[in-house]
Amino acid sequence: MNIVLFGAPGSGKGTQADQLKSELNLQHVATGDLFRENLKNETELGLLAKTYMDTGALVPDDVTVAMLKERVSRPDTSNGFILDGFPRTLPQAEALTAMVVEMEQKLDAVLYIKVSDEEIIKRLSGRLICRGCQTPFHLHFKPPAKEGVCDSCGGELYQRDDDKPETVRARLNTFHTQTAPLIDYYNDAGLLIEIEGEGDVSEIKARTMTAIKSLKG
Ligand code: AMP
Repeated sequence: MNIVLFGAPGSGKGTQADQLKSELNLQHVATGDLFRENLKNETELGLLAKTYMDTGALVPDDVTVAMLKERVSRPDTSNGFILDGFPRTLPQAEALTAMVVEMEQKLDAVLYIKVSDEEIIKRLSGRLICRGCQTPFHLHFKPPAKEGVCDSCGGELYQRDDDKPETVRARLNTFHTQTAPLIDYYNDAGLLIEIEGEGDVSEIKARTMTAIKSLKG
């Protein structure tokens, strides 16, 4: 099974992917994590991506598509993948359509986690990420057991530079102008399933699982 988790930054794609990957035995592939990993390792790709990430803009399509293509071609995705943060533009969506055909596979669904801008600003301003395993936490909604320390791997928690308020507004603007048009693209393809993304993490997971089970028919 191959799934896209679609939604604005802070809509909970990463949190839901974390919950679903073990349940469905799928590989979680998040382009934002891949860029951050590259940045940590100071690769050329990471340093290039940073110049876009810092302003809330998108990394160019050719670079992003090439990175994603390499990632999903690895053997650990052979049982299927959950894409998180990709595609974000129409050319990326078209590249993904071509990619799955080339891999003799298909996309099963695009789950659109719908959250209001107001709620997103609230969530991102308190979000903390683990430097080690990228698990997301929140100062108020999902605090770690020990302040500043990841519950999963013991890594250090930090606030992403692009979760600062000015950049969050720019990222939301990028979502509405460049990414939201994909809603029509996937609706027309019969793949879009809307999930109400506000509420408790476990409630949203239950909604997502119901949607996935309906696909399996
Ligand atoms: P995320 O962790 O998904 O919020 O992504 C963080 C940043 O990485 C975004 O604001 C973009 O600058 C960049 N990025 C992640 N995924 C993509 C993508 N599919 N296309 C272009 N840029 C991306």
